[in-house]
Amino acid sequence: MAGSPDSLVLMQPTSPNQFSAATSGTIPTLETVTDSLSVVALPLPPGNVPCTLSYLLADDRGGIHVIDPGPDWGENWGILVSALAARGKSVTDVASIVVTHLHPDHIGLAGRLREPSGAPVIMHGSDAAALETPGDPVRMRVSELSNWGVPADRRPELTALTLGPATVAEFLVDRTVEGGELLDVPGRSLRVIHTPGHTSGHICLREEEQKLIFTGDHVLPTVNPGIGLGGPTSENPIRDYLASLDTVAAFDDHEVLPGHGYRFTGLTERCTTLANHHRRRTDEVAAVLEGQPDATIWQIAEQLTWSSGWQGLRDFSLLSALSQTELHRELVHS
Ligand SMILES: [Zn+2]
Repeated sequence: MAGSPDSLVLMQPTSPNQFSAATSGTIPTLETVTDSLSVVALPLPPGNVPCTLSYLLADDRGGIHVIDPGPDWGENWGILVSALAARGKSVTDVASIVVTHLHPDHIGLAGRLREPSGAPVIMHGSDAAALETPGDPVRMRVSELSNWGVPADRRPELTALTLGPATVAEFLVDRTVEGGELLDVPGRSLRVIHTPGHTSGHICLREEEQKLIFTGDHVLPTVNPGIGLGGPTSENPIRDYLASLDTVAAFDDHEVLPGHGYRFTGLTERCTTLANHHRRRTDEVAAVLEGQPDATIWQIAEQLTWSSGWQGLRDFSLLSALSQTELHRELVHS
């Protein structure tokens, strides 16, 4: 990780509004981050996290660039339109739609926003390719249930899962990026950083002048992001994820604008915590395998420490836990 211990910025929430909402499980109100940037919280169906943070970045020519338009659910379209109106804008002023990764809680409203505005939808080529590949990345994982040793009575809750990119088929990705590009946002310097791990085509975006970094689901303030939840990869996604943490940890002087939770500073410290979590997890899996070399993924996973407890893991969080256990076993064996 970049930065020596005495130069580290300690992790600190920068929005009392978002921080108190996140700690009480409520939805934060619309807020202004800078003169040119607002953040609107779009609620998610009950489950993991209460909402997605969607960012509205104004350029110098009257255009608005939406970073992660959020889930197409409930009243969200109206909430997004109101957030634009609060900046004196309408959907026809949207100049581009940038998506950090392919998940419906980030990309959901992109199609509805693209239609009236004609704004291009921009995402990484790898996630765009995964969207165009028939089949659901989560379903692909579910096909491995029998190999994982999942007891028969726990399989239905997993086979019922889908990431359901149902809304995704409604539009095409207009422009793909690979990382390193400066996006066309007049008066702003918004650069793409490829951060594979959560999905293979996950991107972060850095506003170089204002020292802001939009981290999508790569770095979240309180949650350990799931890993390998996109299309197929040639490298173990945990290895990719650790390398991607190193990439963004260099921007310790930036304010972090994540896809969920709250804005904060102290990116290097957060990256170190997230990386340590995975290194510890690999060590834990190695320790289990030492005593039980033939343990199934299920048998390994039930012996690991989980923040909500092994018994508390259900549905998507159970699938994510099993999937990550498999990735860590692969690292132990490599
Ligand atoms: Zn998300």
